[in-house]
Amino acid sequence: MKGKRLLMIPGPIEFTEEVLAETGKPTLSHVDPQFIKEFGQALSMMRKVWLAPSGQPFIVAGSGTLAMELAVANITEPGDSVLIVNTGYFSDRMAQVFKVHGAVVDIAPSELCDVPQTEIIRSMLKAKRYKIVSITHVDTSTSVKTDVKAIAEAAREAGALILVDGVCAVGGEELRQEAWGVDIALTASQKAIGVPPGLALLIASDRALEAFRTRKTPVRSYYLDWQYWLPVMEAYEAGKPAYFGTPAVNLVRALNVSLGQILAEGMDARFLRHRRNAKAFRAAMSAIGLSFLPARDNLLASTLTAVWYPEGIDASVLPLIAEEGAMLAGGLHPAIKTKYFRVGHMGMSDASEILSTVGAIERGFARAGYRFDHGAGLAAAEKILLS
Ligand code: PMP
Repeated sequence: MKGKRLLMIPGPIEFTEEVLAETGKPTLSHVDPQFIKEFGQALSMMRKVWLAPSGQPFIVAGSGTLAMELAVANITEPGDSVLIVNTGYFSDRMAQVFKVHGAVVDIAPSELCDVPQTEIIRSMLKAKRYKIVSITHVDTSTSVKTDVKAIAEAAREAGALILVDGVCAVGGEELRQEAWGVDIALTASQKAIGVPPGLALLIASDRALEAFRTRKTPVRSYYLDWQYWLPVMEAYEAGKPAYFGTPAVNLVRALNVSLGQILAEGMDARFLRHRRNAKAFRAAMSAIGLSFLPARDNLLASTLTAVWYPEGIDASVLPLIAEEGAMLAGGLHPAIKTKYFRVGHMGMSDASEILSTVGAIERGFARAGYRFDHGAGLAAAEKILLS
């Protein structure tokens, strides 16, 4: 479309026409039979997207931070020990949320743009009994991906509940909640789930619900308390009306459409497409001489890429790239904020979106005076997209 700028930040992302059209429909009553049916369908489709066939889904109005607190508030009691597998900005945020809810937080530390070593995590799990181990699947500030499967295995052996912040992962990065033994995987609508911002989403395992049901102290929040939300989720899935707080009707209907589109593609195909797009994008950046933040190749995420600016280039290139057709994000990690930019490639991103973005980056960098082999990025990306 002439003049259209692609929104290629790590959320919100480009949404499909069908999803956007759904948000614009006249709002139904939250107890309208049509809405009850669609809410129920969305809940049951979430289980397929999260690969958590026996989990309990929650859909609550709010952003990803609310999803974090919705999880933490219900499974944490004052004095609980929590281990945070720290990969930066969003793990720091999770630690804050746990502290607000009275947890005693230990941190498995990592170097900048790296993940904590699994051996260190294992030895911390041996030395102390943790009720919860918290993992950020993809840290959106650096595009570092954590090996959730391996850490969840270690945490499970130690008897801990496993919480995964999948805000920049669920629906794009491979996550198999039940097979990997993850107790809560949370996200928000605006990223790989493909719905405008406004929905906090999570699935809780039986063990997580048990931890909630056997609490000795009340949940330290009124709005977040599962004792009010759980009956609502159960009722909608059973086709009955229920009320605690008015649901974000239009967004829930859009979620229903988006989850349908995700499942029509299939989860394995979706994980593969995200991997291929990310690989194509990285090949393009490498071909024009740029490099990435994550310390090792196996830490590179599929949902976004964080790229170092080359010498002589800074964030002033971003408006030029936007003029050329792609809106990108600047740095986020406070220690290195001005030194890199971030590109989201999740959701329904296809080959033309990747190529348009690479083209806009090449033209923006060329205008900023960076010297490189023009077109090399496009050729490198195309090669992978065609393979
Ligand atoms: N966790 C991660 C990994 C994120 O990427 C984000 C948002 N970028 C959040 C949590 C917080 O989500 P929100 O901005 O929707 O509150």
